[in-house]
Amino acid sequence: MIDPDVFPLGFEEYLKRVATLTDEVLIPAEPEMVAAGAVPEHVMRALAHNGLFAVSIPRHLGGLEWSMTEQVRLTMEFTRASCVYRSRFSTVIGLCSQAILDHGTDEQREGLLPKMAAGEHITAFALTEPEAGSDAASLTTTARRVDGGWVIDGRKRYITNAHWADDLVVFARTGEAADGARGVSAFLVPRAADGVTTRLPTRMNGHAEAPVAEIELTGVRVNDSALLGGSPGTGFAAALRGINHARLHVAATCVGQATRMLEETAEHLLGRRQFGAPLADLGAVQADLGACFAELEAGRALTMEAARAFDSATVPRHRIAAAKLFCSEMASRVADRCVQLLGGEGIVGDHPVPRMWRDVRALRIYEGSSPVHERNLGRAVTRQVLRDGTLPDTYRATRGQAASG
Ligand SMILES: Cc1cc2nc3c(=O)[nH]c(=O)nc-3n(C[C@H](O)[C@H](O)[C@H](O)COP(=O)(O)OP(=O)(O)OC[C@H]3O[C@@H](n4cnc5c(N)ncnc54)[C@H](O)[C@@H]3O)c2cc1C
Repeated sequence: MIDPDVFPLGFEEYLKRVATLTDEVLIPAEPEMVAAGAVPEHVMRALAHNGLFAVSIPRHLGGLEWSMTEQVRLTMEFTRASCVYRSRFSTVIGLCSQAILDHGTDEQREGLLPKMAAGEHITAFALTEPEAGSDAASLTTTARRVDGGWVIDGRKRYITNAHWADDLVVFARTGEAADGARGVSAFLVPRAADGVTTRLPTRMNGHAEAPVAEIELTGVRVNDSALLGGSPGTGFAAALRGINHARLHVAATCVGQATRMLEETAEHLLGRRQFGAPLADLGAVQADLGACFAELEAGRALTMEAARAFDSATVPRHRIAAAKLFCSEMASRVADRCVQLLGGEGIVGDHPVPRMWRDVRALRIYEGSSPVHERNLGRAVTRQVLRDGTLPDTYRATRGQAASG
């Protein structure tokens, strides 16, 4: 349940509260989380108590309804702590709640979103399959029409929070394979439904404390009310709505992670003496730190600008993709430099930076891997230049803001 004191707070006060939570609870709990191999229950309660499941959900549905610019600033703050914490509520705040909000029926919105905002109802976003990863529209899970409902069969993999979710948002084919994305529908499937089984992997290389799961769906019977939005064929639009929201949160996560890694590394370099002086005094070391800082600030600016565009116009999907692509690559470059600057401490022992180095690697793979974003952005550029000689989502004095989608 969200602390009632949170609701009257203005944004700047709430941001300070989240920053304090990060410094006083989330960062100090990291060793406990690593030792347990899971996010401790008291941290999950603190996340819910402070309203972090609610940031994007409208006030009239129990949420805090911060704008995208505000959500991004919050994310940059709380992801100075391990991004594994964010994984535990990311599928609720971006992926699933946004799909339900924009594409669900009134009954689905009112029935689910208040519980989700309170952190009392966990949802997982089940799109990826063994044979449909980057090419998600080729998914083969099926939903077959039966009297009064649907029967779902298929397999999903790499699904964050699936193992402990209350509901799975399952994307399944209700049309023909030739219909591609148009033949996909989304279903709200209770994880406890007959025919649903989930399985955790034996090992995670990164995000180790928030393992993804496989889902097996065998003859799973759901009622008509489980179909998101009430009509088939709109599942992929719902998926993209959630994904675009989450992608911008991922860009902000990369900024938060790079901030922490740079702070931790600079502190180490100030204390570590070699050649008769702190390593931080060496010109080559300062150049590395300066390059990291410049890249980090470029990522912050790009993400903030995409968020502002998000708040003032239609979803700026190309600018979001550019922010996600740049920031995830930036976080990995910063992580790699920081590990180098830590020397042996970057490899041996419990320093947080090498753990974050492994964690940020995954951010270049999920929510669209970097090569796929490069390909899609390249295609958007050539398509748009062919159409009217301009670039996608750019500001043009003669054509108004964010002239193209
Ligand atoms: C930690 C984690 C959490 C995840 N959580 C979720 C979740 O909650 N829900 C969900 O549905 N999915 C989730 N995923 C799945 C994620 O979205 C997929 O891993 C991603 O879409 C890539 O699919 P794939 O792993 O099958 O890689 P593949 O599709 O096999 O691609 C492998 C690589 O091939 C290259 N490649 C592929 N296509 C192209 C192309 N067109 N052009 C150029 N290069 C290309 C890229 O380098 C890519 O990384 C998660 C994954 C991870 C690792």
